[in-house]
Amino acid sequence: MWDLLLKNGHVVDPLNGRDGIFDIAVEGGRIAAVGASLDGRAKAVEDCSGLLVVPGIIDAHMHLGCVYGSPYGSRMTALAGVTTCLDMAGPIDEILADGHRTGAGLNVAIMDRLEPGERYGTNDPSLDQVRDFADTCTEKGALGVKLVGGHWPLTPEACRRTIEVCNEKGYAVAWHAGTTTAQSDIEGVRQAVEIAGDMRLHLAHINSYCRGRILNPEAEAREALELLKAHPNIWSEAYLSQFNGTHLTCSESGEALDFVTKHCLSLFGLPQTADGIRTALRKRIAHVLKDTGWITEILRGEDAVREWEARGTTNVVGCFPVNAASSRLMLASDKRQDGTFTVDAFSTDGGCIPRNVIIENGLGLVKFGAISLSEFVLKASLSTARHLRLFDRGHFTEGAVADITVIDYEKAKAVETLVSGSVNMKNGVLYGRDMTIITTERGKPYVESMGYPTIIIDPSAPEPERICVS
Ligand SMILES: [Zn+2]
Repeated sequence: MWDLLLKNGHVVDPLNGRDGIFDIAVEGGRIAAVGASLDGRAKAVEDCSGLLVVPGIIDAHMHLGCVYGSPYGSRMTALAGVTTCLDMAGPIDEILADGHRTGAGLNVAIMDRLEPGERYGTNDPSLDQVRDFADTCTEKGALGVKLVGGHWPLTPEACRRTIEVCNEKGYAVAWHAGTTTAQSDIEGVRQAVEIAGDMRLHLAHINSYCRGRILNPEAEAREALELLKAHPNIWSEAYLSQFNGTHLTCSESGEALDFVTKHCLSLFGLPQTADGIRTALRKRIAHVLKDTGWITEILRGEDAVREWEARGTTNVVGCFPVNAASSRLMLASDKRQDGTFTVDAFSTDGGCIPRNVIIENGLGLVKFGAISLSEFVLKASLSTARHLRLFDRGHFTEGAVADITVIDYEKAKAVETLVSGSVNMKNGVLYGRDMTIITTERGKPYVESMGYPTIIIDPSAPEPERICVS
């Protein structure tokens, strides 16, 4: 007797070449059978007629910790139809301290950010300091180290040392491009690619370096794609939202304070002042993010102006539509000569920032004709599963883990998720609690001592080959 039978869903499972109406049987948290019309008894049967049934969505870059996220990150990610995510900054200590309370049933992998200023008092950490950080964070359960060049730029040499140490020791390593000598834009990408050489590297959110700061967005995207093609050792993702996140804080005299906000205002021909911000909000160019106590939502137009003014124009986070449609489309759909995608996966760089739009905008690309449904599943699940060496996820092979996302295709919205065969989210209601931490043999004892179930992977295993589907 199966635990659950999902009947008549439109199943898209590119690893097994499936794209059609199938039943899926789940037992003991795993895929028990997939077939055109399964004959068998199940404790529960669900009719999925008219719905897409795909391997659980995996967000390849998001944030749960307070530095770049909020306590709502897990919840918002789970509500968006995701079953597994890669947190790209930690801090590992904070996520493990809060996860039992804030978790929403997701499988969570964590990279810990190297911010050596607070730990070692330098932006040029020595080889010993880099080793100390990498050893410590992986012992606590992180998969490896994240360089956050856009926020805490290190010297190019320190970045090189970090990538070398992680490659030597078999830890994961990711980089938000940017150093003390190149900014977090296409110049930072050129430098990152050169420094990485033929070493393993996850280059984060490619789209954010293609916003037209040096060239125009299309030329920057073209260059980024050429660099990735020439360096297949680099794994990358890009997010699909047009929005960034920035502070709308002003000085007493009415000057916009945040560098990013100033840049956004001038991009839209507005003064870098409180008046400029007010106009941007009123014209619905910029929006305000507001914590509801449950999630973070976007306020627009006069609602945004009221919220921003009520909070004394301080401490308000907002967003501008700075990711050009043209570069996002190029990065999402471009392919290498062998037919595999140049940018490996979709991500959100979200979590608590309300841009968890892998399904909404990913299916938008399908409807637009830029990618196929199978390619959507590849970039939204399978590719990142393989990158994380989660070989029993991202597909519906018999025996694979039953992480499943059920989607209303017309509304481009997740209606249900299963994590290990259990309902995690259904019709906007969260059932999942806590977290399962994706870690290594090295991190397992500590993570389990903190009370978490674990999934053990080996980031030192060779990067799996890219898959071509159509
Ligand atoms: Zn990020």
